[in-house]
Amino acid sequence: MIDAEGRHIASQAPDTFLKAVAGVLLVLAVPAAAQPVRYQETRAAMGTQFTIVVYGPDESPLQAAVSAAFDEILRIDRHWSTYLPDSDISVVNRGASQRPVPVDAELFGMLRTCLRFSRETEGAFDVTVGPLVAAWGFFKREGRIPSKKEAARALAQTGWRNVRLDGTTVSFAVPGMRLDLGAIGKGYAVDKAAAVLRQAGIQSALLDAGNSSILAIGAPPGQQGWTLMIRDPKDPKKNVEQVLLKDASLSTSGNYEKFFRVKGRTYSHIFDPRTGYPVEGVLSTSVIALTATETDALSTAFFVLRQEGTRRYLQAHPGIRVFFCGNEGCAWLR
Ligand code: AMP
Ligand code: MG
Repeated sequence: MIDAEGRHIASQAPDTFLKAVAGVLLVLAVPAAAQPVRYQETRAAMGTQFTIVVYGPDESPLQAAVSAAFDEILRIDRHWSTYLPDSDISVVNRGASQRPVPVDAELFGMLRTCLRFSRETEGAFDVTVGPLVAAWGFFKREGRIPSKKEAARALAQTGWRNVRLDGTTVSFAVPGMRLDLGAIGKGYAVDKAAAVLRQAGIQSALLDAGNSSILAIGAPPGQQGWTLMIRDPKDPKKNVEQVLLKDASLSTSGNYEKFFRVKGRTYSHIFDPRTGYPVEGVLSTSVIALTATETDALSTAFFVLRQEGTRRYLQAHPGIRVFFCGNEGCAWLR
């Protein structure tokens, strides 16, 4: 017999040889601790890039689970996009001023959730901002300041209290109203995609909708949680805070996402539904809570409520953390 280095070992004393062989067998008999495989995929949806990272014992089931999770995200995008003329939301927006429009249970549930967030955030979250988004040019992605008349008209076509939900239908009390799920849809898609991964038995994953809504399932192997950064709203190359996330979600709303500048003023894509004007002076709001639907909706609402209104919300709602960045700097409100 010849060893790995080409030496004849049969000439060794037999018991030493046997012990050596037994040692090798013993080592081979102990199953090597399986190194988890990491699989990552990025795809475009909802006007941004979604990235999913998963860990598990084998690559092929991970790939299948991630593919099913993306199918779920794309399904929601197809149904709820305001950019697709045949989406469920577009059908509602075209018809609900004239008559009650039937919707499926999923959209009905989402609209109920939206109205609940409106009630709980003093109207800061408002799914009817569609006419404001259009009047200020954000729908066509070319920001513009509307005339006073246009701005007032758009404001008159909004208002969550003008949405009527009746069992299975939705109707608008005011003509020209339009729903826009831009502040909650990505978070909901992340939650639904996470449910698909959990169903497939995945215990370690990160789902990221363009850095604006992130959900962590478990932690990466051997770690306490997923280490995430909150970026500096004034400088995309810098971070202002580090967060360790495990079985929770982090969403950030930022004035840097979509904005335009006129005469030194920054007009961003988040509107105060009570005035109809873009919120000024807030740079970003980050929220940590259990679901991405909640953190997505609340990060937008807190952007509108500013520090004072956010503190009021927090008093009534435990278990939520908020990181707030304004012109004067950034701080945890809780
Ligand atoms: P987010 O980045 O999640 O804060 O969502 C911002 C998007 O939500 C905007 O681009 C609009 O489409 C929509 N939006 C703007 N203001 C509001 C608001 N006050 N309530 C709900 N949705 C809003
Ligand atoms: Mg949001």
